[in-house]
Amino acid sequence: MDKLKIAQFAYMLVVVLLNLISAGFYLLHPIRHSPYQKTSLNYFLAFFLLFAFGFVIYSLSLSYSSKLIVPLTCFCFIAAFYCLKYGFIWRLHHYAQPVYKVPTFYFHLLLVIGVNGYIFQYIYDSNLIRIAFLLSNCCLIAVFSIKHVAANPPEHSFGEKVAVTGLMLSICAALALLLLLKVTNDPFVYVSALMVTQSLVVLVILGSTLTMALSDISKLYYEDSITDVLTGLYNRRFFLSQASLAVKTASRHDFPISIIICDIDNFKLINDTFGHDTGDKAIIEFSQAIKTAARETDIIARLGGDEFIILLSKSDAKGAFGLADRMRELTAAIHLESDKGEVKFTASFGVSSFESTIDIESNIKEADLALYVAKRVGRNNVQSYDPSMTMS
Ligand code: GH3
Ligand code: MG
Repeated sequence: MDKLKIAQFAYMLVVVLLNLISAGFYLLHPIRHSPYQKTSLNYFLAFFLLFAFGFVIYSLSLSYSSKLIVPLTCFCFIAAFYCLKYGFIWRLHHYAQPVYKVPTFYFHLLLVIGVNGYIFQYIYDSNLIRIAFLLSNCCLIAVFSIKHVAANPPEHSFGEKVAVTGLMLSICAALALLLLLKVTNDPFVYVSALMVTQSLVVLVILGSTLTMALSDISKLYYEDSITDVLTGLYNRRFFLSQASLAVKTASRHDFPISIIICDIDNFKLINDTFGHDTGDKAIIEFSQAIKTAARETDIIARLGGDEFIILLSKSDAKGAFGLADRMRELTAAIHLESDKGEVKFTASFGVSSFESTIDIESNIKEADLALYVAKRVGRNNVQSYDPSMTMS
């Protein structure tokens, strides 16, 4: 075997190994994911496997001449790039079509296989033209993948920015290779360039898709850490951190802030009579009712059990009382079906408004006291804090 052939095989081996290591990483699933993200990561896995397989077949073409090699190489590379594209699509769309159900995929595959097969059959020494055609089609798919990366275009999260940069870098590497193929006839230079660009593409795509997946996962953990599992509203910890910020803003701009604390009346009775599951449903319905009444800028959180808290910025005592009363009415109108009959319940509300100089803890205590009084006077009631209120 001459030196060039040995170099060619060594290069192919490097690229194949790089792809297999990348595929191995996705195969082991070392990162946490949601079910739809799992499909996305599996598409990335398929990308690396097909890429590796494509290079194995391509390296065979250096020693054997078989008509099967052309369609197989085309299949591997085109399918690999479609998997990459569908990895991005599935990351954002839970119910996207699988790639094997997409007609464009088959059409594109047939087109590339047909054209490259024709060139192979009828154009003498057609290797470079075929590579150029295959590469430009892969680039085309990569270009069309870019628009599927961002969840809220034109805004990109950090991970999405890295993924778009990775795709662009890969396209640039492929175009640079095409350019080089045009200006050089030296097979050694060509093989080296192929190896460098393809290794770069694999590393860049592995790095960027991984960064994107890790950034998605950190977002998932962050959302978990601020959300109440049952209702999907914020939890107490996040509420307190947001509330302190809101108090500072209110203090700087001198506008009123109010707090409502509310609690379902005789909730233990619902649990005891209808069961814990129905109790859970009542909590969810209650959370929806208060969410419906509140404004989008209000911060609503579950303090625990059947107790919720709402922070209203730019709302004075009168406005907060009105809102709490609307929430009370909406709660009383809830009808919940259960196997033991219809469930109806009410809730009580404590309101406290304050000038921005008071701290959030005292404000919560005041709203709590108002809620206590609302319970004491008979429940299904709204009370605004008054300094004369006592626990007795
Ligand atoms: P009150 O009118 O004075 O508020 O009476 P209450 O029976 O509603 O009393 P309280 O608010 O103290 O009841 C809280 C109960 O909520 C106690 C606990 O068993 C139940 N609970 C706490 N968390 C959950 C939950 O996630 N799901 C269900 N179903 N019940 C819960
Ligand atoms: Mg209660």
